[in-house]
Amino acid sequence: MADRFVIIDFQWYTLSGERVVPKELASCDNNFRRSHFVFKPVLNFGSLSSTDQRTARYVYNYHHCLPWDGGNTSLGEFDDIIKFLCFNMEKIYVKGKEKANYIKAIVNKPVIELEHAGRIKRDKPSCMFHVGNYCVCALTNVENLYNFLSGN
Ligand SMILES: [Zn+2]
Repeated sequence: MADRFVIIDFQWYTLSGERVVPKELASCDNNFRRSHFVFKPVLNFGSLSSTDQRTARYVYNYHHCLPWDGGNTSLGEFDDIIKFLCFNMEKIYVKGKEKANYIKAIVNKPVIELEHAGRIKRDKPSCMFHVGNYCVCALTNVENLYNFLSGN
């Protein structure tokens, strides 16, 4: 655990055409220092197609419980935040191939996929942005992954 590392997780909405819209981003470094962002919507919910609205409702209800309209950070900052979080880090850990590839494309550095770190599951959220007692929270995920890496 001597390396400088950062664990990154994010939750998203998916729109047609496999377009990923990040909604929540969290990180945890080797000193258990955490960061957390929730992104403002890029479109009004009403302007989504009915298919996208249905998908969004499903993800909201059964996965992350992050309201479409929530958030306080502009999504345009996502890439710069990722670059900042990864700057000067020797290792970047991400759980999930899709997410790892997404981060890799931004930082242009190797990203280590935490394949064996257990399943990301609905849990008590560590942040206050979720509407529900059990949901998938990016901050909870990075905390759990930190414990996994620490052997706790
Ligand atoms: Zn959360």
